[in-house]
Amino acid sequence: MPPRAKKSLGQNFLKDRNIAARIAAQLHIGPDDWVIEIGPGPGALTRHIHAAGPARLFLLEKDHHWAREHRLHPLAGTPEAQVVLTDALLFPWERLDAAHPWKVIGNLPYNVASPLMWDICSRAPGLVRASFMIQKEVGERIVAAPGSRQYGALSVWLQCFTKPEWCFVVPPHVFTPRPKVDSAVLAFTPRTDRPDAVQSKRLARVLRLCFQQRRKQLQGILRPHVGGDASALLAGLGIDPAARPETLSPERFIALGEAVAMSAIA
Ligand code: SAM
Repeated sequence: MPPRAKKSLGQNFLKDRNIAARIAAQLHIGPDDWVIEIGPGPGALTRHIHAAGPARLFLLEKDHHWAREHRLHPLAGTPEAQVVLTDALLFPWERLDAAHPWKVIGNLPYNVASPLMWDICSRAPGLVRASFMIQKEVGERIVAAPGSRQYGALSVWLQCFTKPEWCFVVPPHVFTPRPKVDSAVLAFTPRTDRPDAVQSKRLARVLRLCFQQRRKQLQGILRPHVGGDASALLAGLGIDPAARPETLSPERFIALGEAVAMSAIA
C-alpha cells in the first residue's frame, strides 16, 4: 500500500496518463538533453520524460518513500535515472552550467512553486527550457501584463529572465487527492538578454521595495532609498514619478534597479 498523500509536501498526484504525456511533451526533450524532474512522486510524469530519451535524467524528491521507490524500481532502459533525496529549494541551480542543455520539469508542490521558479529561471546558466504545472492563479500572475491586477514581482522577475508561455489548463479531477483549484502548465525559454548577476541583485531589491507598497507612487517608495532626488531619477529614466509600480514594464524595472544602485554610489 502506498502511503497517504502528504499535504505538507503538496502531494496531489496526477492520475491521467494523457495529461501527463501532454505535460512531458511541453519540454521538447531531445537526445542531448539533461533533464531534472522536481518531485517525481509515484512517477506519472517520469515515465513519459524517460520514454522521450534524454541523455541524463535526475529526479529530485523530498519524500523518502518516493525517492526509495524510484531507487528500488528503476524504469527499464536508458537513461538510468539518478535519484536525489533533497529539498529542491536548497538545490544549487548555479551548477546547471552551459556545458549541457539542461531542462527542468515538475508538477510543482504548490506551497513552494513560486520560490522554485524564481530561483531556477534566474540562477541556472545552462537552462534551455523549463515546464511546470502550478496553480492556475499563479500562472496567470506570471504571464500578466503591466497595468493588470495580477502583475507583480513574480511576473516581472520571470519575464526578465524568460519568455513564459501559457500551455494549457488542468482541472482538479485528474489528481488524487483533488486540489481545490485549477492548475495550469507553463513553459519557460530563457531570454538571451537576461540580467547578469549584478543586475539581478539590483532588480530583486527594487522589486522588493516596489511591490511591498504597490499602491504608493514610485517617488514616495524610492525617496528613502536613493541618494538624491527620487523624482528626478525617475524622470531621467522617462518614468512618471507619480506612477505606481505595477505600470512599469520588466525592462523598466531592470533600468530602475541599476539607477537606484548607482544613485547610492554617486
Ligand atoms: N510528479 C508527481 C505527479 O505529477 O503525480 C507528483 C507531483 S506532487 C504535486 C509534488 C511532488 O513534489 C511530491 O512527490 C512531493 O513529495 C515532492 N516535493 C514536495 N516538496 C518538495 C521539495 N521541496 N523538493 C523536492 N520535492 C518536493
